[in-house]
Amino acid sequence: MIRKLIRKVLELPMGKRRGKPRVYPLPQHGIRRDQLSHAAVRVTSRLQEAGYAAYVVGGAVRDLMLGVSPKDFDVATNATPEQVHHLFRRSRIIGRRFRIVHVMMGPETIEVTTFRGGSVDDTNETGRIMADNSFGSQEEDAHRRDFTVNALFYDPSDETVIDYHHGVKDLHAKKLVMIGQPARRYQEDPVRMLRAVRLAAKLGFEIDEDTKKPIRAHAHLLKKEPGARLFDEMLKLLMSGQAYACLKKLRDEGLARGVFPLLDAVMDDKGDDAFLRLSLESTDARLRADKPISVGFLLATLLWRQVNQGWQRRVAEGEKSLPALMAAIDDVESEQENDLAIPRRFSVTMREIWTLQARFDNRTGARPYRFLEQPRFRAAYDFLALRSEAGEVPRELVSWWEEFQRADGAGCERLIAEAKEGGAEEPAKKRRRRRSGGRRKPEGGGGESAE
Ligand code: ATP
Ligand code: MG
Repeated sequence: MIRKLIRKVLELPMGKRRGKPRVYPLPQHGIRRDQLSHAAVRVTSRLQEAGYAAYVVGGAVRDLMLGVSPKDFDVATNATPEQVHHLFRRSRIIGRRFRIVHVMMGPETIEVTTFRGGSVDDTNETGRIMADNSFGSQEEDAHRRDFTVNALFYDPSDETVIDYHHGVKDLHAKKLVMIGQPARRYQEDPVRMLRAVRLAAKLGFEIDEDTKKPIRAHAHLLKKEPGARLFDEMLKLLMSGQAYACLKKLRDEGLARGVFPLLDAVMDDKGDDAFLRLSLESTDARLRADKPISVGFLLATLLWRQVNQGWQRRVAEGEKSLPALMAAIDDVESEQENDLAIPRRFSVTMREIWTLQARFDNRTGARPYRFLEQPRFRAAYDFLALRSEAGEVPRELVSWWEEFQRADGAGCERLIAEAKEGGAEEPAKKRRRRRSGGRRKPEGGGGESAE
């Protein structure tokens, strides 16, 4: 009888299931208060002292349980955004669809969210959530989160983890399981499909079968998402430290072609993606070593193949190197402009890095000196080094510039003379016919214009 009743309760859809959460004490999850950031502890304790419930929630709890240090800390509370704002002098309420409070404390910003309510209050004809500002209980809040491992709450005051959806169990099994009915959750917010792929790659988790199954059929919903949100998500993906794995997984799940214009561009032809792989692996390595990443540089590498193909083609058709490169860049940019939504602050850097590639072949006269003074020289040089690793330009060109940067006055002169000997391109008006012998091999990068 009792067993029957339990089964009945378990068969109810998640939304209707009500129950006590599992509460795990410290020895069972291992997260000590002192592993949180100073700001996370201060924000939760201040809220609790004022009589509100407050927990660290989401990615930070998940990451700490996995032994990874969290990127940032989110806090969930039953205080309204106004009440939170009132408690913290350095805070502001942001967002319209999802109103949250940013609390600034020292160098940190803590995102404080009020528990979201049970019913989705505003959806469009495809079930997409348009606004989500009705407040609710902690249990309802857990239910509105995406994956079970993302719905764990940590209470710093007694160092417990509160789990409504078997998140701890799934975390140990390294499984990403969608809360509720996956198909409906993707309709509510298609970006959850991208999050599934990104988090699985980042954490080394499997996407649970039921969570994975509806992705292919719902992929098209992503096309309707605002470009800026997709761009943000794309950036998170690229900055996850597992960028190459993420892109491959997206392709496997049917989320690349026709969905994500940038990915379409990147993965257009099958086969040779040596350059992409190298650049993403170097990004991943930099992130793991805690080195800064330039988003403009990263985007430049992603779209480079398209630019380079256009450049090569034009050079082969007899155009001069620099004008050919500029035209190829224009082609790619206008093709991407409508879909990509790359913010200007990134696209300017991207364009500069590309344009400067044509200047590495000018190794005579005063031009190498002038090039070194270019503020973007270093980024352009790093880009050249990647191209060389991918076999696009000779290693010799990279070493030449490497030495030129370090050499003293006499050393620079010697290098320039050597380059000249080797047949480096000279300024057009002074260019003379070269004698036989020293002719340089044509470069993959389309460096030298047709003579
Ligand atoms: P990351 O390591 O990338 O920060 P995260 O899980 O912390 O991963 P955030 O974007 O910081 O991701 O989101 C914080 C939490 O908010 C998530 O853990 C999840 O509980 C919830 N969340 C975020 N995006 C969604 C979404 N689209 N649908 C439902 N819940 C979401
Ligand atoms: Mg987070």
